[in-house]
This record gives sequence, C-alpha cells and structure tokens, in this order.
Amino acid sequence: MQMRPWFGDEEKKAISEYMDEDGFITEFKRTEKFEQMIAEYTGAKHCIVVNNGTVSLTLATMAAGISAGDEVIVPNFTMIATPNSVKMYGAEPIFVDVERETLCLDIDKVRAAITPKTKAIMLVTANGRYPKSGVEAFIALAKEHNLKLIEDSAQSLGSFYPDGRHIGTVGDVGSFSFSAPKIISTGQGGCIVTNDDAIAARVRRLKDFGRSGGGNDIHSEIGFNFKFTELQACIGIEQMKKLAWRVERKKEILKRYQSNLKDVTAVRFFEQDLDSTTPWFIDVMVDRREELQDSLKAKGIGTRVMYPPINKQEAYQLPGEHEVSNLVGEEGLWLPSAGQLTDKEIDRICRAIIEFYDE
Ligand SMILES: *Cc1c(COP(=O)(O)O)cnc(C)c1O
Repeated sequence: MQMRPWFGDEEKKAISEYMDEDGFITEFKRTEKFEQMIAEYTGAKHCIVVNNGTVSLTLATMAAGISAGDEVIVPNFTMIATPNSVKMYGAEPIFVDVERETLCLDIDKVRAAITPKTKAIMLVTANGRYPKSGVEAFIALAKEHNLKLIEDSAQSLGSFYPDGRHIGTVGDVGSFSFSAPKIISTGQGGCIVTNDDAIAARVRRLKDFGRSGGGNDIHSEIGFNFKFTELQACIGIEQMKKLAWRVERKKEILKRYQSNLKDVTAVRFFEQDLDSTTPWFIDVMVDRREELQDSLKAKGIGTRVMYPPINKQEAYQLPGEHEVSNLVGEEGLWLPSAGQLTDKEIDRICRAIIEFYDE
C-alpha cells in the first residue's frame, strides 16, 4: 500500500470515554478544543472545522467574497478538489502551470493569467512546499491587483514558511484537510484558518445554515450545513497530540529515500526545504514509470501515479499545454509514504528501485 491509515488505542479510548458522557455527538466542546489546538499550533487567530477539506475551500473563498462568475487562479497540478471547490457555486477556476522545482504556482504565469474578472489566487502548497518565488511575492501580487490570496494548505499541516509563519496563515484565508491520507486524519474533515474576524464569522454562519447565532433560528444570510461531529473531534484531538512526532518522522523518511537513491538519476526529487516544511507524500519524477510500478508491485510495493494535468481531465477538457503539469502527468510518482514505514522497509523499497534500474 502506498498509504495506510494511522490510528491507535488513544483514538479508540477517547471515543469510548466520550460515549460514556451524555453527549449530543454533533459538534460542541470537543470540536472547540480541536479547533483551539489547530489555532495554537498554526498561530492562526481563528480555526473553524468543517466536514472536509473541499468544503473548507468552498467556504473560505465564499467568505472571502468570491461568487459565481468570478475567476479564481488555481494550479493545473493539484488535487481536483481545489478547482471543484469554487465550481460548486459557479466561480470559474483558471488553470495555470506550476514551477518544476516545487510544483507550486508559477508566479509569472499567474501574473499573465490575471483578467478584470480575476478575484482570487489559490496557492496550493504542494506536499508542504512553498513556491520558489516566495509567498511574499504572491501577497504583493494579490495586493497590486486587489485579489484575495487563498492558501490551499491541505497538504501542509506541519509546514512553515522560512520566516516561521505556518503555511495557511499568511494569505487572507487558508484551508487544511483531515482526509484519510493526510498527516493527521479524522476520516473526513477540514478546517479554515484566518486572522480576519469577518471571514471567520462568515464561515461560521455559512457552515450553520446562515444562523446569526449558535442554536437560534434567525438567519441573516443563506447558509448550509457543513458541521463537524464530536466523534471526529475526539479522534482529531488525539491526532494533534501525535503531530509533532509525525512531522519529524515524515522528514526522516524523505531524507532516507533521498540518501538511498542519491545515485539513481532515473529518480528525481523536488526541492523540499526540510528545515521548514514537512513532506506529506514521497513524490518523485521517474523514468519508465509504468514498468517501475509493475516491478515494485510484483514485490508487494504499492505506488501511485501523481495527479494528471487537470485541464485534460474529462471533467474539464480545456485547451492549453502546461509543460510542468504535463510532465508530472507522465513522470510523477508517489512512492510508499505511510508514516509507519520503518527504516528497514524504506531500505527494501529503495533496493527494489535500484535493482529495477540496474537490470
Ligand atoms: C486532500 C486535498 C483536498 C481535499 O480535501 P478533502 O478533505 O479530501 O475534501 C484539497 N486540496 C488539496 C491540495 C488536497 O490535497
């Protein structure tokens, strides 16, 4: 398997303890505590959890003032949830290519894609990495054109910019996901982080039917139901306690792969700043991708091809050739990335890769 869920007895015990209380299960104190833990860890003023990391992007952008017909610049290499989250309410994702070294948005191409209809840039910090151009350049560009900067930091919990600020907290609003493969998981789940009081208040209304206050039936605007549950929060709290260790382990795993495979020119790593950022997956570009996958599979080693260029997905079918995302579509591969991997297992995987290219 390329990725395995990572829960233990602590989660089991927390749920069982909660169930012995007279709880409502829907979001309440445990959820608040989970939100506080994330706010504290990331340094964000506000954290609001919702039922997944796609809806969190939908609400983040809506609360930032994006609406139907607006253009939002997104990378052509990302999980498809990034563009789909704004499609949900009729905004238009505009696909822009990414940098070869980091797979984050290429700022020159972003600048060229801005039109009078552009309202936001969605910066996806791919695998915890930040763009080579630096996030400051994105903040400046957004300011210059009066755009919102939204950070899709679904893959970046535990990753910081070099100035020490947590990824997701420097734009107008950021979003994380707690889906099964992410560094911490609540099965499904996501959250919005922001330092903007108005955006936070609007997200809280939008996720709770547009209620003007908790539990009342006075609706100041049209909202929906994207609430969390206490059972997920019980798991999330225990997962947050394990985050610091996971961050360290994920870094060690990448270092071990890099060192084992340093002489293999057929396997190329991206530029990951391990002082500040945490790789979520082990992503590489490889020669003879399909053959390598088959050879590893025969040895019981699971891999997964990275996201294809989104503009060429049947769901979008948009014209344009985006060089880097096209290349990822041909060469990008996720190697086994589970946090539970032992050094011995990593060494075995690397030996299998070396043997394949030596043949
Ligand atoms: C995982 C992910 C999402 C979606 O999160 P879900 O919780 O699965 O809805 C969005 N964007 C990126 C970059 C992701 O990796």
